[in-house]
Amino acid sequence: METTAIRVTVWGENVHERSHEEVRKVYPDGMHSVIAAGVRERLGDAVTVRTATLDQPEHGLTEDVLASTDVLTWWGHMAHEKVDDAIVARVHQRVLQGMGLIVLHSGHYAKIFRTLMGTTCSLRWREANDREVIWTVSPAHPIAEGLPPAFIIPQEEMYGEFFDVPQPDELVFISSFTGGEVFRTGCCYRRGWGRIFYFRPGHESYPTYYQQEVRQVIANSIRWAHNPTQSRQKPYSADNAPTGWYEAPGGAAGQK
Ligand code: ZN
Repeated sequence: METTAIRVTVWGENVHERSHEEVRKVYPDGMHSVIAAGVRERLGDAVTVRTATLDQPEHGLTEDVLASTDVLTWWGHMAHEKVDDAIVARVHQRVLQGMGLIVLHSGHYAKIFRTLMGTTCSLRWREANDREVIWTVSPAHPIAEGLPPAFIIPQEEMYGEFFDVPQPDELVFISSFTGGEVFRTGCCYRRGWGRIFYFRPGHESYPTYYQQEVRQVIANSIRWAHNPTQSRQKPYSADNAPTGWYEAPGGAAGQK
């Protein structure tokens, strides 16, 4: 048992999987189970993985769970508005304190992602069995490790520009689709001590989260988003700074 394992919580809305037969066929135990299995498969002993879902008390994201989560992944779609604002605020605070957040597919409209971005996060979309090509545009980035210059997802929903998010701090992947549209598919952000990665693929009616390259990207992003610097796990704050504070004995070392 590795004590330094990254503690991952895979959050799933788990509504489509119970209400839509065609989704249940692809993800009989819920999308979160398959996403979690992919993380375990790719990262092995480097992680401990648990899942949480909307219908659990506090959506499975209690203070204790979040306090012991290094990286949270988020998939939601039809029930974004059912996520309690108090839980969103709690997740937001944890991101500022250093928890990594991986936002997947339709999670672009999740309250937590819109809160962190400060924009509408709207985009163009079409559900029409497009073929998606994912292009690596930052091959030296840790999230691109082991990924080819391009890979294909045979069937996906189309997401197209304009995607109303702030310019990403780092852009790792873009997508193109059968219809000709393009999209910024792998976007990195920093908020407070936290790192955020948005990754586009993962429409509920397609088996995207079984695909090896997709699993590799998610696993890489978890490693990238992990902030092991425990001493930094409190939010920034505004501190009064008397003249010379940084020259006092032990001064700068004791300050943020
Ligand atoms: Zn979708």
